[in-house]
Amino acid sequence: MIITCPSGLQFHARTWNLGDQGSLIEASIDDSQNVAIRMLELATIPNGVVDPGPYSFKEGGNVSWGDVTQVDITTANLEIRKASNPLVPFHQACTRCGKLPEDQVYIDLRDLEVYPASEEGLNHIRTNVPANMSLIDSQGRSVTVKVKLLFGRDMAFLSRFQEQEQSRMLEIQAVASIASIEVPGESSPLTTFQDIREYWRQQSWEFGEAVEEKVDGMGGSVDTTVVFRCDDLSCHREQEVPLPLDEKFYGLSGRHKRRRLRASSATPSASIEKTTPEVSLPSPPDTPKPPILTSEA
Ligand SMILES: [Zn+2]
Repeated sequence: MIITCPSGLQFHARTWNLGDQGSLIEASIDDSQNVAIRMLELATIPNGVVDPGPYSFKEGGNVSWGDVTQVDITTANLEIRKASNPLVPFHQACTRCGKLPEDQVYIDLRDLEVYPASEEGLNHIRTNVPANMSLIDSQGRSVTVKVKLLFGRDMAFLSRFQEQEQSRMLEIQAVASIASIEVPGESSPLTTFQDIREYWRQQSWEFGEAVEEKVDGMGGSVDTTVVFRCDDLSCHREQEVPLPLDEKFYGLSGRHKRRRLRASSATPSASIEKTTPEVSLPSPPDTPKPPILTSEA
């Protein structure tokens, strides 16, 4: 199949197989940032670049995932998961009362919306030059914020925060997307992660939203928000959470549970039958034989 990323990068990939799960278990499975790249490397067909988009890869060459934007990496994983099996089990505790819903539900990745990268973002990927934004900060000063996209090579840095500061990942991602901030009256711009983070925390919600919107527009985006309602009658809180790209997403757990729960859930079983791998032999990577969904993008 051909995968298309928000940047326009297109490459040949195969669906994940049981052999991939084995090598994922060998890799560190709690390091979700690196797992994302590992899973892409497994599914990418060698010499499979169809259209390099803004990247310097050669047509018919290989993708170097460290040089690809984080949103392209996430989208590519979602597309490969969609072709491997579009129904992702979702079973998450309520953020208010902590109660786990009675039934596991399935998120259908065929409903996913992907937004393409902007011209400005493509230019940034080509040149590596950050984009400028003028914003008013919390002290009323007109500041210049230079915004960049996060790439596969940045994921090692981000994953260092994964364990200690899981709940602050959105802030960390936003701060990591700022190359520098020029504040009038200051002799030099803010450039280090710590300085920018300290400054970021003083700013208004509007300031944060403006930067995040800019980054989303530049790299393009994929909406993985899951909306669900707590089934505890005294709580009943509706909530929005990002779809976790965890072990279940990569097929490591939940496969057998799915069989047990199928009768009681509203899952259309036909599509599961078609895409569940039957043989435990990993197929060689040079067989670009898509079982379903040929050029879905
Ligand atoms: Zn609840």
